[in-house]
Amino acid sequence: MNLKQRLIEKASELGFDDIGFTTAEPLDLYIQEIGSRPPEMYDWISSVEGVDLKQGAHLSQNHPWAKSLMVLVLNYHRRAFPPQLTGKIGRVYLADDRQLQQDWYLNIMSFISFLGEENIRFHFGEEIPARMSAARAGVATYGKNCFAYARKSMLGASWLISIPVLLDAEIEPDEPSVELGCPSWCKNACIAACPTGALYAPKKMNPRKCIAFNSYYTEGMTPLEIREPMGIWVYGCDRCQEVCPRNQAWMHQDLPPNPSLEVRANDFRLVTLLTMNEDHYVNKVWPLAFYISRKNIAKWKMNAARAIGNQGDRGDIPLLIKVLDDNPDETVRGMCAWALGRLGGSQAKAALESRRACENGMVKQEIELAIENL
Ligand code: SF4
Ligand code: SF4
Repeated sequence: MNLKQRLIEKASELGFDDIGFTTAEPLDLYIQEIGSRPPEMYDWISSVEGVDLKQGAHLSQNHPWAKSLMVLVLNYHRRAFPPQLTGKIGRVYLADDRQLQQDWYLNIMSFISFLGEENIRFHFGEEIPARMSAARAGVATYGKNCFAYARKSMLGASWLISIPVLLDAEIEPDEPSVELGCPSWCKNACIAACPTGALYAPKKMNPRKCIAFNSYYTEGMTPLEIREPMGIWVYGCDRCQEVCPRNQAWMHQDLPPNPSLEVRANDFRLVTLLTMNEDHYVNKVWPLAFYISRKNIAKWKMNAARAIGNQGDRGDIPLLIKVLDDNPDETVRGMCAWALGRLGGSQAKAALESRRACENGMVKQEIELAIENL
């Protein structure tokens, strides 16, 4: 058995859904595409994630020893997601067990150990563009929603992570699949469904308008114009994948339940998120959703207040009033004011009017805006 066959066999034994290979040449199409976009769409990535998008695509230049790029594909939707969590939290985050060091994490670590046993030098890192790597290694095609869709596995669905790994071994490349795999009869359902207009054209997405970016990476108050379109998503967004016909075959299967997530679902109730203490946040929420810093509980509470406002249940008004009165963080209080304005009614109006005199600056402005819109 040659090295390529041994790597394929190991990937299958460890439960990966696919594996493909390409050269370590630069990902030129990716470099060109990023270069064609307005810089302000992506300049935040280097400061937030410490990653230079274009530089990461220069594979052999960054790692002159690298001879091949291997891409592992892992399906993160093998089990059903509890309905209490879908629509609020992106599926991929609920499955990412890096912090808990469970299944997904252990499989990747086992594969990495195997590379060591084979005496293969390797490098994997977040700076390597995963979707373009997967397409060039022939394991994925693109969707107009910019997601990678499995080419041969997972009934063609997009619920995958791809893990690019540079190797110092020469391995025969697979046939690339850098192409759009959308059926011609789908008239851009993903673009039509994107609540914030982040998807602005086929294969074009402005991350600054995406719910995912706004739910975990931004600082301060969420911009007014996207608070309502963000609906009840509090961390990530799956909307453009949920509506996609390429995902329906996978989603309509009778998937086994996910007992561990079912137990955790109550930890993510909107009212729990709005009122949680540090212990709940650090031990129950953060291990699954760690893009928001462990110190930034306020971001979660602000997201929860906005989602509660959008959920439209006036039964939540007393809780929002309490948090508006008590919370030390002005973004949380400001968003509670917005949510009260959104829910409306005499109780919300009276609370906003009474609180107005106690506030200054940004929170006062939010209260005045909320009253104006009642
Ligand atoms: S993840 Fe949500 S907000 Fe982002 S592009 Fe898709 S539908 Fe739009
Ligand atoms: S919704 Fe339609 S256009 Fe968008 S990714 Fe899916 S198949 Fe392609």
